[in-house]
Amino acid sequence: LSEIIRHRAWIEIDHHALAHNIRSIKQILSPSTALMAVVKADAYGHGAVRVAQTALQAGATWLAIATLGEGIELREAGIAAPILILGAINTPAEIATIAQWKLQPTLCNPQQALVFSETLTKLDQSLPVHLKLDTGMSRLGTIWTEAAAFVQLVQQLPYLKIASIYSHLATADDPDPTVMRLQHQRFEAAIAEIKANGITPPRLHFANSAATLTDPSLHYDLVRVGLGLYGLYPAPHLRESVDLKPVLQVKARVTQVKTIPAGTGVSYGYQFISDRPLRIAVVGIGYADGVQRNLSNRLEVLVRGQRISQIGAITMDQLMLDVSNIPDLQAGEVVTLIGKDQDQEITADEWADKLGTISWEILCGFKHRLPRVSI
Ligand code: PLP
Repeated sequence: LSEIIRHRAWIEIDHHALAHNIRSIKQILSPSTALMAVVKADAYGHGAVRVAQTALQAGATWLAIATLGEGIELREAGIAAPILILGAINTPAEIATIAQWKLQPTLCNPQQALVFSETLTKLDQSLPVHLKLDTGMSRLGTIWTEAAAFVQLVQQLPYLKIASIYSHLATADDPDPTVMRLQHQRFEAAIAEIKANGITPPRLHFANSAATLTDPSLHYDLVRVGLGLYGLYPAPHLRESVDLKPVLQVKARVTQVKTIPAGTGVSYGYQFISDRPLRIAVVGIGYADGVQRNLSNRLEVLVRGQRISQIGAITMDQLMLDVSNIPDLQAGEVVTLIGKDQDQEITADEWADKLGTISWEILCGFKHRLPRVSI
């Protein structure tokens, strides 16, 4: 079956690399710090169920997702580990569904906590809840100056069991630690106040991948690692911190090879015109698969271990290469868009640099039309 899947274009997921990354990251954690595998957005495009299974086997003990649907997908696959929903949940119907599937929600403010408590009282069901503090990301959470009052309120509400208090860093990948330090101070101050009120949260957590790789004082009881699991570094200055191997490779096959004369336009809009006779290859992957059209005429791919230029506009399902350097190239041969071929490698970081974005967005951008093949 996997050979049939590999007929046009596909994504290979290297579960050995994933397990290696988890073990590498665990090596820099103290034994009392748990690893939460962030598998939201279909595990950053890698396939949430399979990634979660490998992550749990390799030593992660918690999972994090963003939406209720993502949590249900994991539970339906038989995954029993604790699952934190990082996103906001607000309606009684969602709360009932969370309770039904034994997912663990994030509570961000007093109003939401009241709705939870009311709904759970009606259901006569208690739920572990994770309280989110905003220490400077200005996204979800109660602002740090109001944190103690928020936590005290939740502590008093029936059916809500505080499972953790957490916050999220805005600039952990910046080599300048100023903002991260400020957020850390605010978190520490809020926690001190909460403890002074007689509340001892069972767990604290703060670190994403970048903070996990940067500073053990941010690890607390649990680290929430996304990008690092998938073998990418959040920033170039963190490359020395632990050994990570990319997990995902994007591959496609050559579907036709031919020679075009000098002066021939290639693809829609003739953005590329040959200045000499060219050997071109058509490849069965396009922007509907996640190869963004903005990469047209800038993308490079690997064929037989060589870097090859993509030419003309990338189309919905196909793109063209200048393969004049490989005159005997045949239809059916494999093209690597992201990944390794002999001693050459193209990373999601290279795409991110070309597109002026971040590798997180590149990974999440590959569409479901590309089958995920586990290797
Ligand atoms: N924690 C929260 C709240 C997040 O939103 C994310 C991802 O965006 C992470 C942790 C994981 O971040 P990273 O992929 O940088 O490790």
